Amino acid sequence: MADVRLRNLTKSFGSVQVIKGVDIDIEDGEFVVFVGPSGCGKSTLLRMIAGLEDITSGTLEIGGKRVNDVQPKERGIAMVFQSYAIFPHMTVRENVAFGLTINGASKADKGAKVAEAARVLQMEHLLDRRPSQLSGGQRQRVAIGRAIVRDPQVFLFDEPLSNLDAALRMDMRMEIGKLHQTLGTSMIYVTHDQVEAMTLADKIVVLRGGEVMQIGSPMELYHEPANLFVAGFLGAPS
Ligand code: ADP
Ligand code: MG
Repeated sequence: MADVRLRNLTKSFGSVQVIKGVDIDIEDGEFVVFVGPSGCGKSTLLRMIAGLEDITSGTLEIGGKRVNDVQPKERGIAMVFQSYAIFPHMTVRENVAFGLTINGASKADKGAKVAEAARVLQMEHLLDRRPSQLSGGQRQRVAIGRAIVRDPQVFLFDEPLSNLDAALRMDMRMEIGKLHQTLGTSMIYVTHDQVEAMTLADKIVVLRGGEVMQIGSPMELYHEPANLFVAGFLGAPS
């Protein structure tokens, strides 16, 4: 069980502040989508939550605990990378199990976890293949499998579908929605795709230049955008 709370979070690279005091609450089990134009700070924010980027100031809490200085692997989170981050020389089974080498699980335990992830993602028949024998969507499933085996309390996705074609993107979007229903785990999903945001999110965070423009449900943002920027990005045509 984990909620995630960002309190007045900032990030500077040298003298340039790219995250400018962000407050966001992600409730346990919620699917939250961060949207905004390229360069607005979506990936930086996600990497700060993951522990891959230091926090300059502010507080990050996961599951009620301040984790600013907690190691990435101790945070109970798993990040789903784009499918090209899987290893070509390993089978699907080995690629998925790679998610577990980090916390030194026993061999039997690993086998059971990989089998369970394969079942959830319906890729049991692919376990002995290599990435070159997979479609783009199947590869993306492997990348998600690698996160699932770690039993995270929070999943982080950084534009996981951006290198897939439109038809596949729609399939995988539905898969990810199903995965959220099945696991019931909190998910934070970064995209610049409005359709992904509107269809997947319980709650959308609209970012611009390192600041939160608005937080709300897809319907709230669509019908009551706080400003022209949000309206232009997600709102109803007027
Ligand atoms: P997004 O994911 O929304 O496209 P990013 O989080 O990647 O945006 O980047 C936000 C801003 O921070 C951009 O202006 C980018 O150039 C800058 N930035 C990101 N990473 C670094 C870094 N390691 N060093 C300096 N500037 C960075
Ligand atoms: Mg990015």
